[in-house]
Amino acid sequence: MYYDKKTIVFHNGKFVKAMDAKADLFSQTLHYGSGVFDGIRSYQTESGIYAFKALEHYQRVIDSAKRIHIKVKYTAEELVNITYQLLEENNLGNAYIRPLVYLGPNMRLTKTDEVNIFISAWKWSRYQMNDQLDVMLSSFQRPNPKASYVDAKISGHYINSILATQEAKRKGFDEALLLDSGGFVAQGPGDNFFFEKDGQLFTPPKGHILPGITRQTVLEIAKELDIKVVETLSTKEDLNEADGAFFTGTATELAGIKSLNGKAFKKKWEDTIGFELFKKYKQKVTHGEYNSYSII
Ligand code: PMP
Repeated sequence: MYYDKKTIVFHNGKFVKAMDAKADLFSQTLHYGSGVFDGIRSYQTESGIYAFKALEHYQRVIDSAKRIHIKVKYTAEELVNITYQLLEENNLGNAYIRPLVYLGPNMRLTKTDEVNIFISAWKWSRYQMNDQLDVMLSSFQRPNPKASYVDAKISGHYINSILATQEAKRKGFDEALLLDSGGFVAQGPGDNFFFEKDGQLFTPPKGHILPGITRQTVLEIAKELDIKVVETLSTKEDLNEADGAFFTGTATELAGIKSLNGKAFKKKWEDTIGFELFKKYKQKVTHGEYNSYSII
């Protein structure tokens, strides 16, 4: 699904066949999660292939790595260029791009000198195909920001996301909504959360969340459209009166939420502010409105 015999990946400075790329089983990242990754989407637009906000994504890779004392040997600009080459090598237009920074062998908890970078790309349809998600409030909380840098995209954090997702699926839901360690609404396992009430949007502030690039894009679009978004802490009771809600993320794009714990939101997805924003988001990503790095 992610690669076949012909797939080319970027691994430590070289474009190689995915089948030939090798990693060390004693990698500290494999055992303890001390790595960083990201997810970027590219779109086939009228003016060429456009990797949406790729520079921001790679800056997040570099910054996240820095937080856990890993130095990435490339600049964000270099990584963007490598990404376009990788798409070309694989003849991909609409794709999902996965950079991973992982460490070499070290079975201690100490600093690891060897830093590796791997970038792959594959065709991936929207993570949430169903725009009408049935969501459950997770029994898992987001990691405590005093326990790690929860605003960095660190591999080890994702066991929390995996547990929450698996719990939701096991119970017959599409997705989970996690509270933070203070009991306030935080986000989904791999996406940010917004809800609508009385013509305004509300979203959790920075602090306990991974402040997504899609979340930021939605804030920008809302501003352009004169839609008020309040970044504030909310309780699960605040959600009872909500008219609608949606998740945002690179893989998810914008996905409407139909119900929370079996209770439907008041408005149909198509009638919500979220849906308006989704249409505008699609226009931005597919018409390359932020286009500065397209290749024809
Ligand atoms: N939260 C988490 C935990 C994520 O993994 C992601 C996906 N990167 C997001 C939020 C959404 O971030 P973005 O919009 O930058 O993809």
